[in-house]
Amino acid sequence: MKNLPLHWKILIGMALGVVFGFIAVNTGLEDFTRKWIMPWGKIFLNLLKMIAVPLIVASLIKGISDLKDISKLSQIGGRTIGIYILTTLTAVVIGLLLVNIIQPGNGIEETTRANLLEGYAADATAKINTANETETFKDAPLKFIVDMVPDNIVGAATSNKNMLQVIFFAIFFGIAMILVPEEKVRSVKSFFDGLNDIVLKMIDLVILMAPYGVFALLAGLVVNSPSADIFVALGKYALTLIIGLAIMIILYAVVVSMFTGKSPGYFFKGIMPAQLLAFSTSSSAATLPVTMERVEEHLGVEKEVVSFVLPIGATVNMDGTSVYQAVAAVFIAQVFGFDLSMMDQLTIVFTATLASIGSAAVPSAGIIMLVIVLESIGVPASGIALIFAVDRPLDMCRTVVNVTGDAAVAMLVAKSVGKLGEPKPKNWDDHYEKVA
Ligand code: ASP
Repeated sequence: MKNLPLHWKILIGMALGVVFGFIAVNTGLEDFTRKWIMPWGKIFLNLLKMIAVPLIVASLIKGISDLKDISKLSQIGGRTIGIYILTTLTAVVIGLLLVNIIQPGNGIEETTRANLLEGYAADATAKINTANETETFKDAPLKFIVDMVPDNIVGAATSNKNMLQVIFFAIFFGIAMILVPEEKVRSVKSFFDGLNDIVLKMIDLVILMAPYGVFALLAGLVVNSPSADIFVALGKYALTLIIGLAIMIILYAVVVSMFTGKSPGYFFKGIMPAQLLAFSTSSSAATLPVTMERVEEHLGVEKEVVSFVLPIGATVNMDGTSVYQAVAAVFIAQVFGFDLSMMDQLTIVFTATLASIGSAAVPSAGIIMLVIVLESIGVPASGIALIFAVDRPLDMCRTVVNVTGDAAVAMLVAKSVGKLGEPKPKNWDDHYEKVA
């Protein structure tokens, strides 16, 4: 057991969590699970989230100041953003094609529709209100950029939802550091180098808890999940989305092996623990520490690229969320009987791309931004009530794709700038001593 690779331990933890959840539901242990098991999942999640802000600050500042000149930064930065936009667009188009071919919304019965709309109306309204607060595109097209620049960095760092603001500050700080003569910033640089090492060690320690953390998270999810009937009613929608997500995963493996020569097996073995955590936590931000560790140590991407590409990717590049926005928007339109024109579909491509970039890397962020996509094509936002019941499990799946996409792009960017090497697993947390 001790020498079992990490992904097996996490998988076993997940499976036992699900089994335990079902036993709890059938033996009246729901309350016990809520009181005594779920808190451990929450503690694990909090530990991961707690590391996110210091990790982003330390690794971005270290990563950028290591680059030593601005032209290298703009080379990596340009490629990263370019590839991220490309994968996002691909994801939206795949989602649109699938939902138009399969047409999951046309088979929904009238009573199911009414039940869902009524049953989840309150939840839907809450999300719509949040979306309206963050409304970006209609009245103020530049609000997206304005929101990226914090007016107070300490304030920005208090919420994981403001990740983009923290990233902006860290990049700006790193650039300024490159511009100041080296001897003047030597001590600041060694401070951030040291901080970075400490944060990475914290991640190693938290990962040790992962198998138990996912057990508690999944047991809690099973205990709190809605009845199976709803899944059946929305099965075609869920299936359409899952097919889209699977296509994205296959696409990453193919593109990575085409451009880097690394086999799909190598790619998935390296990234799997991060995928499993993404599934269990539904949060790219919470998974980020593990994603960074896996991509650097197990996929051979050099630190310079990892520390730049992945923190940005966690918030900006959400391909799973993009597929979801497209499928969900058209599904809701189909259920309501809207006939979407070509222009509407193009609008979805545009708004879904922006919405996935603007989504925070936290659970359920995607459904909030979906409101904006729906409004852009004139479909009532209350329609999100239709998909609410199955949103959590689908959020788990799309977060896996979000994280996998970031890892794939990190490999592509690294390859293109000559920074892709051999894996260098070195931490005792993975029990790879024999290999290292
Ligand atoms: N939960 C997703 C993530 O953190 C975002 C979403 O809701 O689609 O990547």
